[in-house]
Amino acid sequence: MTMTKPTSAFDAAAMLTQVQTWSAINTGTANLAGLAEQAAALAGAFGALPGTVERVDPAPVTAIAADGSAFDKPHGQHLVVRVRPQANRRILLTGHMDTVFPADHAFQSPRWLDAETLNGPGVADMKGGIAVMLHALLAFEQTPDAASLGYDVLINADEETGSLASNALIAQLAAGKLAALTYEPAALPDGTLAHERGGTGNYSITFTGKSAHAGRNPHDGRNAIVAAADLILRLKALEREDITINPAKLEGGAANNVVPDHAVLRFNIRPKSTTAMEGFERDLSTLLGDIETDHQVTAHRHGGVTRPPKKVDAAAQKLFDLVRQCGVELGQDIRWQSSGGVCDGNNIAACGVPVVDTMGVRGGAIQSPQEYLIVPSLVTRAALSARVIERLSQGVLNQGTPA
Ligand SMILES: [Zn+2]
Repeated sequence: MTMTKPTSAFDAAAMLTQVQTWSAINTGTANLAGLAEQAAALAGAFGALPGTVERVDPAPVTAIAADGSAFDKPHGQHLVVRVRPQANRRILLTGHMDTVFPADHAFQSPRWLDAETLNGPGVADMKGGIAVMLHALLAFEQTPDAASLGYDVLINADEETGSLASNALIAQLAAGKLAALTYEPAALPDGTLAHERGGTGNYSITFTGKSAHAGRNPHDGRNAIVAAADLILRLKALEREDITINPAKLEGGAANNVVPDHAVLRFNIRPKSTTAMEGFERDLSTLLGDIETDHQVTAHRHGGVTRPPKKVDAAAQKLFDLVRQCGVELGQDIRWQSSGGVCDGNNIAACGVPVVDTMGVRGGAIQSPQEYLIVPSLVTRAALSARVIERLSQGVLNQGTPA
């Protein structure tokens, strides 16, 4: 039996006001003041749930500067809400408060495109999704089954740059959960979910050669730029059907009359399978050794895969089927397709927890100034989530209590 409210019972006006208010707060991943303001607003909103709300410090993250030196990259605090942590059945709900629009970007506030379409930073990705999550939980709390399900909510502050400061927290919160729901916007404006996803990794390679005068003693030099260029071509040659490699930025060099002793190469990989991911790691180690030998430079490697490829196993497929069934009951036709994008769903799936990671709003043009939210989807997607959560509270995944 399902007791969740009909869609007419959701407070559409309250959801819209939250999205508009939150969209007007700049939360570029590097804007710590904006993120703190957003976290305070979210703490207030999620305080309506019967649990504890806490701010968690970001994990330290080291990055590589253009000169090859390591530095600490600051991040905002994450928000964690815990409701009924003693419950046998528990799930994880995740979202992110950061956006890709920095504090000095021209795109800062929402505006109407037409009566049902709101344009604004984060309205779809994913401040709208956070409103969907919150109101689904508020509706679920009104059902008789609420007492039988506990849940943790994580809203991190660094998803758009790879969740390096929240990865460990995600893994910690995923442990012991029977399922997870993540509130990225639907993969398509019609509400289609993202199913399997490829993975991603980011690397910085610092080359150190030997400086020399280009005229007097060039043969004494060891050219770091040439070594980096050689690596770029060899990396590109590693591309296969199940992995692409994008050499993205080469920094370093010296004056025209100097053999350059320094370079930093940045590149991204997109493995489609665990096999491809692991194969690349082995190939890269071999390549770096070869480059060091062939060019008599040192090549120091930083970074790696941050989001492993996300496969949909049998347990995860059951969760997709549940979402579709709940859609049928609500008159919503829910489909799915694989995606080339990545999100925290990759990291949750890597913990062995079934996850549907596009439970958020319908909308589109995300990560651009054309980003839009189809406003009526706030309520329809909240109704969908509330029903899925209620079904999970009834034990429909039939997985028993996780060890
Ligand atoms: Zn997102």
